[in-house]
Amino acid sequence: MKLDEQHRLLLAERARIETLREEIWRNDPDLVLSERSGELSGQDQHPADMGTEMFERTKEISILERLDGELIEIERALTRIEAGTYGTCEACGRRIDAERLRARPAARFCIEDQQAAERAVHRDALR
Ligand SMILES: [Zn+2]
Repeated sequence: MKLDEQHRLLLAERARIETLREEIWRNDPDLVLSERSGELSGQDQHPADMGTEMFERTKEISILERLDGELIEIERALTRIEAGTYGTCEACGRRIDAERLRARPAARFCIEDQQAAERAVHRDALR
């Protein structure tokens, strides 16, 4: 595994996500306010429009949350490169498959532990 290559992939991925976030903010500058206060701007709008706007906002906020989550993962991966622990599974300490790291440069777990973690999240969601 080439660390330089992984580092480049992570930086490119971070730039891509930051661009996506900026695009969402640019399309909807009020979003940051509505996200903080939990309220929508434009209270004078027709109620029928509010439903659509609410839906769009909810969608945008969930995309932003996902992008924020991905950025955090990338920052963690960059920290692990500096610390020299990049490429090992955080759960079992084994080397993560090189193919997997190329596909998902910010991967924290080997495929087995990733699947186990996803099953755990799924169980929590069903509760
Ligand atoms: Zn593992």
